[in-house]
Amino acid sequence: MNYQTVIGLEIHAELLTNSKVFCSCSAEFGGEENTRVCPRCSGMPGTLPLFNRGAAELAVKAGLALNCKINNFSAFDRKNYFYPDLPKAYQITQFFNPICEGGYVDIGSKKIRINRIHIEEDAGKLIHDEKRKISLADYNRCGVPLIEIVTEPDIRSAEEAKDFTAAVCLALKYAGVCDAKMEQGSLRCDVNISIMPEGSTVFGTRTEIKNLNSLRSIGRAIEYEYSRQKSLLERGERVIQQTLHWNDATGVTTALRSKEEAHDYRYFPEPDIPPMLITDKEIEKIAKTMPEMPTERKKRYLEMGLNDADASLLIADKPLADFYEETVKHYNNPKSVASMIIVELLRRMNDSSVSAEELKIPPCHLAQLCKMADEGTVSRGAAKDILKEMFDLGGTPMEIAEKGGMLMSNDTSAVESAADEILAANPKAVEEFKAGSAKVFGFLMGQMCRALGKSANPTIIKKVLEEKLNS
Ligand code: ADP
Ligand code: MG
Ligand code: ZN
Repeated sequence: MNYQTVIGLEIHAELLTNSKVFCSCSAEFGGEENTRVCPRCSGMPGTLPLFNRGAAELAVKAGLALNCKINNFSAFDRKNYFYPDLPKAYQITQFFNPICEGGYVDIGSKKIRINRIHIEEDAGKLIHDEKRKISLADYNRCGVPLIEIVTEPDIRSAEEAKDFTAAVCLALKYAGVCDAKMEQGSLRCDVNISIMPEGSTVFGTRTEIKNLNSLRSIGRAIEYEYSRQKSLLERGERVIQQTLHWNDATGVTTALRSKEEAHDYRYFPEPDIPPMLITDKEIEKIAKTMPEMPTERKKRYLEMGLNDADASLLIADKPLADFYEETVKHYNNPKSVASMIIVELLRRMNDSSVSAEELKIPPCHLAQLCKMADEGTVSRGAAKDILKEMFDLGGTPMEIAEKGGMLMSNDTSAVESAADEILAANPKAVEEFKAGSAKVFGFLMGQMCRALGKSANPTIIKKVLEEKLNS
């Protein structure tokens, strides 16, 4: 029997505030263990949380970026559980009244609906010392603001799950909500997955794979879990609702806890923080600060004449797309600039791990180079060499072209005298050409280019050569 996979995601994204969500400690990633903690975020008795409104603003931006409804009223709740990375023994979250509801992400082939987005605080980190057989707690991450984005079970394959997560990462980056560095854990994904016979509309029992931290492991974990659930059903067994851990090294999921052992979190409204009121006016004000989102930008690039693949490639890296737009401002030829960036520049950037923000090339110089290549001031080949030097060392394309003798000469007299010399030196080739062999023309062109060097303008050479041969 064929089975259909059904997937819903819960994505945790760290908000880009400077300080934590309920105290003034730094929310920056890393730092020496337990140096970014205070009595509030380490859960000392008697301390009170002080809500950072900056976190609310970023959550609203996330909601707007993901087409959600922003609630004028939301409130915090306590989720009670004991774990050593959580010194208060409860997490402050939004359970009954989240800040955003509804929404969707368009992944091209379909829309994935978002159920809700809520704000919560992150927990600390445990460091397990295998050698000494002890675990250490680092509370630097305690109280770092998070949003949790919960989807409807609309996702049907590993590919869709990866596309959705990538689209969320991109939207959050564009909105300045989260840096979405999955490898650093600033965005993590829980995958809820079940399978049902193809054609059925009744969902199967789901399992939840916790804390996936790359698109690749999301894909692999889904494929693995699909096969595992399928073979259970084929053996006539049942899928047990449980929480799973994905081991990237071994490529298998293992059970953390089953539903019977699931926590009773005893949620109740957080008594120490007043409910959060956001007026429509405030929401509008935040909406005005929203930049263009990746999907809109892509649409605009398509209208500018780029093809789908090129547009997608550019928008996937916001700083690079910004660089592209600046360049087009200096030289209004969107396709030519895109091609120079994608074919030549991006390859160099990838080879040397240079990000768009680290480029030594200002947009105006790249614009100049594209224009020079388009107008035949330098040959396409020379443009590549010039770009390499601009990339490695900087400098303007004109200076580099002049210094390297790469400016194509429009002076036909040099080309004419070179042609005279070469034709005189190759009487046999001339004879063959006149006898109808087109092949020797290429040979003569090659001789000409070699004689004239990088400044040779192939169009002019061809014209002069043809004239001389046919005269
Ligand atoms: P919980 O409160 O137990 O986390 P939710 O109803 O909030 O459960 O769902 C959590 C996630 O699981 C959501 O993303 C939802 O879309 C997804 N989900 C719910 N039921 C299923 C199912 N049968 N198969 C796959 N995913 C599911
Ligand atoms: Mg859940
Ligand atoms: Zn603190």
